[in-house]
Amino acid sequence: MAHTTLFNEGSHSNILFEDFDPGGLAVQSNQHLIVHGSAAMLLDPGGHKIYSKVMAETFASLGPAQLTHLFLSHQDPDIIAAINGWLMTTDAEAYISALWTRFVPHFGLDRLVAHRLHAIPDQGMVFELDGAKLYALPAHFLHSEGNFQIYDPMAKFLYSGDLGASIDAPYITVPDFDSHLRYIEGFHRRYMASRRVMQAWADMVRPLDIETIAPQHGAMFRGKEMVRRFIDWCAGLDCGVDLIAPLFKVPVG
Ligand code: FE
Repeated sequence: MAHTTLFNEGSHSNILFEDFDPGGLAVQSNQHLIVHGSAAMLLDPGGHKIYSKVMAETFASLGPAQLTHLFLSHQDPDIIAAINGWLMTTDAEAYISALWTRFVPHFGLDRLVAHRLHAIPDQGMVFELDGAKLYALPAHFLHSEGNFQIYDPMAKFLYSGDLGASIDAPYITVPDFDSHLRYIEGFHRRYMASRRVMQAWADMVRPLDIETIAPQHGAMFRGKEMVRRFIDWCAGLDCGVDLIAPLFKVPVG
């Protein structure tokens, strides 16, 4: 699978790279590239197994633009394991939650590039890609304690990281919300921290103009109605610490 252009208007394009390790041991992940004018941001570049393929596709998709930003939604290996390679082979600046900057060096961050890994403060920040604004929205505890999503108001995309993730759904765009629940419910109940956090996130994103929610794994939610269904579902979901009490028993052995 190569790349799919999801949005293209003027000098702004949003490109999906997916499934570079089909049938592999590693969990399927999506990489997204946002190109605007002369600048570009790669979101959650991934680990070593897909590094060379994502790199080749990224450079093939950039055209005359430069890769200027590497966005890391959180600290998981499927997102940051290959970050040193990205920093060594491009001039891009990388951004991750301030909670995680001192953990990334455990993946082998060369001293030469360490100064190009930047902290995103808890309240989020705004990036500029050749004049286009991209918003790093707080999405803490969904699932990571220091976790951000990218909102692109030009394309009306919300890149939601692990929120909305599905595994093994046989499509890249959700065709029917109710029948898609089987692919997302178990994961969200266990990985997302609590309904209270889900509600805070829903209150933040509801006023935004969103046409597509694009998670880091599995299928996208496209169209206003599908986006609304997903946000409403999140806001009503008991998950994480809401459900965890029955697990806390000493195992029988
Ligand atoms: Fe994760």
